[in-house]
Amino acid sequence: MRSTMMDAPLQVARILDHGSTVHATAEVVTWAGGGEPRRMSYAEVGRTAARLAHALRDECGVTGDERVATFMWNNTEHLVAYFAVPSMGAVLHTLNIRLFPDQLVYVADHAEDRVVLVDSTLVPLLARVIDRMGAVRHVVVVGGGDPAPLVAAAGDRIAVHHWDALLAGRPEVYDWPATDERDAAALCYTSGTTGEPKGVAYSHRSIYLHSLQVCMPEGFGLGVADRELVIVPMFHAMAWGLPYAAFLSGASLVMPDRFLQAAPIAEMIAAERPTTAAAVPTIWTDLLAHLDAHDVDTSSLREVVVGGSACPPALMHAFADRHGIEIVHAWGMTEMSPLGSVARPPAGATGEAAWRYRYTQGRIPAGVAARIVGPLGEPLPADGASVGELEVRGPWVTARYVGDDAPDGEKFRDGWLRTGDVGTLSPDGYVTLTDRAKDVIKSGGEWISSVELENALMAHPAVREACVVGVPDGRWGERPLATVVVREGAEVTAEELRDFLATSVARWQLPERWAFVEAVPKTSVGKFDKKVVRSRHADGALSVTELTTP
Ligand code: AMP
Repeated sequence: MRSTMMDAPLQVARILDHGSTVHATAEVVTWAGGGEPRRMSYAEVGRTAARLAHALRDECGVTGDERVATFMWNNTEHLVAYFAVPSMGAVLHTLNIRLFPDQLVYVADHAEDRVVLVDSTLVPLLARVIDRMGAVRHVVVVGGGDPAPLVAAAGDRIAVHHWDALLAGRPEVYDWPATDERDAAALCYTSGTTGEPKGVAYSHRSIYLHSLQVCMPEGFGLGVADRELVIVPMFHAMAWGLPYAAFLSGASLVMPDRFLQAAPIAEMIAAERPTTAAAVPTIWTDLLAHLDAHDVDTSSLREVVVGGSACPPALMHAFADRHGIEIVHAWGMTEMSPLGSVARPPAGATGEAAWRYRYTQGRIPAGVAARIVGPLGEPLPADGASVGELEVRGPWVTARYVGDDAPDGEKFRDGWLRTGDVGTLSPDGYVTLTDRAKDVIKSGGEWISSVELENALMAHPAVREACVVGVPDGRWGERPLATVVVREGAEVTAEELRDFLATSVARWQLPERWAFVEAVPKTSVGKFDKKVVRSRHADGALSVTELTTP
């Protein structure tokens, strides 16, 4: 029997219509450094999105599924583009502003970006590469800075417009076309540290379903009373789907623009009173140091979500104990739209038991099926103990990369996405990751989890950041090297840290090699860049202390 239900497509335009009418008075706030923050209601976002779509179609000639790229911070205009471009049937490509020039050119060419929207503060960065982006015909500059370097670099092939002039006088409604919900709406390239970046094309349908999950209580639990501080970049994995989830739920958005240091973020929290926020652990580590040293009103925050890399338990406890802020740990990846799991304890768990659930990467939602597999791809039991690679599938998980006719065998297996993450899955659906497959340290045939050592080290009061990698060892194959950033004003020796680790880590796992560093190198999205740490070690660029076995 077929159902009697209507077959209404799940579309980004529907999310825009809903948010800009039903939640017309919700607002997006963009931080302006010392100046007055900019505010725009969701009703106005809807009207501006229509104006942008008219401008893109009539002035920039965007038709069909052509790609419109953004080279922008988290701000109002970026939000407008998030809605206007997919709603008009085109495809939004969020360029990662921190990519190396060659990679930027590669992804813009691969995606065949036709138009680039750029913040005026990023004009110098884009000007370095624009002439090499072969498909680009139009650039739209947002904000008041000087576009001259871009005009000079763009040459005759590319027209440079200004956002305000381009949008002025355009109609404030747009007859959004009916698109196939399975067509691409947005495009992100993975920030993979090996090989060329790979494209993931989200569909209208996947965005819609994913956004519903973000709003769920077991997700980010967004509602009309919320104000979400979106620190996670809109050029990384669609800002975890928060812009769309906000328009579905009526939550307001607070956008930091380029002010991503701890001091302005603290100011934003005190002034704009967000109820929740989302960022990678390094941002929260910096903010913690700031909050410890300054008196900041953070009372509006009901919780903050941490994902993108493993959240050290010590960070969760420090926020809870010293600032009364609950950290919620989440896991995902670009290939998963990106939300996988969120670590909320099950009903009835309290005290230590609840904390143990919160340390995990979280519980898998209905929209994501997960399994653990062994080295030959054989499924292992979800018993919370069997360790293997995590594989996932579901309606917001990519089935292949853009431009590939068939799924790449290294990343996909029998209809599953191989996450490259290693860990366990419990019978009640909690994922615990011990490492990236390529970061696991293989010592004398046994595995050492670099993440476990890092978490244990970051629990030491003198340690600000700790990054552990495997380095070649004549006897054991590989051994851990601990690189440590010491907290300002604190002092600690390698012996002291090793003795501290010995209280929670098996003796054979204790690192012999230690290096004290100014900062841990980070990837373009703020994660520890272990490849760089390993190569610095290989090049002899680290000053390593080697301890003898105690
Ligand atoms: P990206 O596609 O850049 O978002 O990177 C995805 C990868 O980040 C995942 O495959 C994990 O290796 C890592 N990751 C994301 N969230 C977490 C987390 N909560 N704990 C550990 N690793 C994480």
